[in-house]
Amino acid sequence: MLLKCPKCGVKNYLDPYPFWNFKGKTKCAGCDTFYAVEIATGSPMRAPRPINGTPKDPDLLLPGFADTPDNKPVMGEGKTRPAPRARADVYGKPKPIVRNSRGRLVAGRPLTPADLVGSRARYVVEGKEPK
Ligand SMILES: [Zn+2]
Repeated sequence: MLLKCPKCGVKNYLDPYPFWNFKGKTKCAGCDTFYAVEIATGSPMRAPRPINGTPKDPDLLLPGFADTPDNKPVMGEGKTRPAPRARADVYGKPKPIVRNSRGRLVAGRPLTPADLVGSRARYVVEGKEPK
């Protein structure tokens, strides 16, 4: 659903999954105007109307994305909601697994030169047989 703010013209994209059945407030990312929205099974039950609110309201759900009338994205803390994460505890850092139960290296972190001692990769680089 698209909430185009009549005050500033910013298009606020209310993504379907969190807003599918939703009754509460959302906030325009452009001018910080709060809107009362009521959506049932993906269809708005009534037109969004401006309402008073605070950023701490428990029924506030920010739009997933917003852009200006000339298609520039509006981002930042308190403007749009961050994308949902499959695992909230993983931020793209390698897992701390280094060796498997047989002591062999497994994926987990970038290899250091010492990890390559006696390995095929070391043999290719140095041109010497592993000892
Ligand atoms: Zn606005």
